[in-house]
Amino acid sequence: MIIVSACLAGYRCRYDGVIVPDAEIVALVKRGEAIPVCPEMMGGLPCPRVPSERTADGLRVVTKDGGDVTDAFFSGAEETLRMARLYGCGQAILKARSPSCGCGRIYDGTFSGTLRDGNGVTADLLLENGIAVTVKD
Ligand code: SF4
Repeated sequence: MIIVSACLAGYRCRYDGVIVPDAEIVALVKRGEAIPVCPEMMGGLPCPRVPSERTADGLRVVTKDGGDVTDAFFSGAEETLRMARLYGCGQAILKARSPSCGCGRIYDGTFSGTLRDGNGVTADLLLENGIAVTVKD
């Protein structure tokens, strides 16, 4: 079983409320091979919501309007890990560049469109717990 970002599976959970399904991910879910999760909504955030980015030190997640959503992001990551364990998932396919789901490259916390090396909060937690993470645009 595979954990997948719910936005890739066609859920309305992106920060901007736009629905952008990925045909390959939708097919995985339809075949019963993948579990869709949205860490940010499972952490209690609404849809739509103010865009957020992970700070350069990785310790906090801040919103474009100056808010701090760190607790929601880390709570959602823990819930995603719980789901992965519950369903025996050893792999995750997540949305690229997200402050939760991104892996390898994420926005740098300045809201300037600049990317840096690093992972989203959920991707980090899954990797730390032995779950392989790949991303899709
Ligand atoms: S990238 Fe991750 S946190 Fe963001 S909407 Fe998609 S599933 Fe939710």
